[in-house]
Amino acid sequence: MMEVQITCPSCQSSIEVLPNHLASKVDCDICKHIIDVKFTTEHEHGNLKECPVCSRMDFYKQKDFNRKIGVILFVIAAILSIWTYGLSLVALYLVDLFLFRKLAIVAICYKCLTNFRKVKNITEIRDFDHEMNDRIVYSDHDFKGKPLSH
Ligand SMILES: [Zn+2]
Ligand SMILES: [Zn+2]
Repeated sequence: MMEVQITCPSCQSSIEVLPNHLASKVDCDICKHIIDVKFTTEHEHGNLKECPVCSRMDFYKQKDFNRKIGVILFVIAAILSIWTYGLSLVALYLVDLFLFRKLAIVAICYKCLTNFRKVKNITEIRDFDHEMNDRIVYSDHDFKGKPLSH
């Protein structure tokens, strides 16, 4: 099942939900803010076409990787490499390759920053595009799921 992580617009805390087309509201545990959601059976099947929170169709994908943990792991591997003759860095590279590159890819809505995990149609979702991001965030442009064309 696709996992959805909504960022509360009121207090910025994250709210984890599972798609359910019968649910139309999600409330924030922290500040009790109520967020309207529009889940469809598509979402229940793991297909991401439209954002259940803001109805936009523009998403990007990235490695579901906590940058802070990544930096810490790298520092540990770099220190260990003195005794392991660099093998710890090789191990880190392999962990990165297998765990983070293959398994954990997260799709993110440009507009409302909702995160989607275990998305079935993840291959249809493109990488982050700075220009698209700027136009969506600063000029409220709606690309309707189409890639940026010049
Ligand atoms: Zn909240
Ligand atoms: Zn959204």
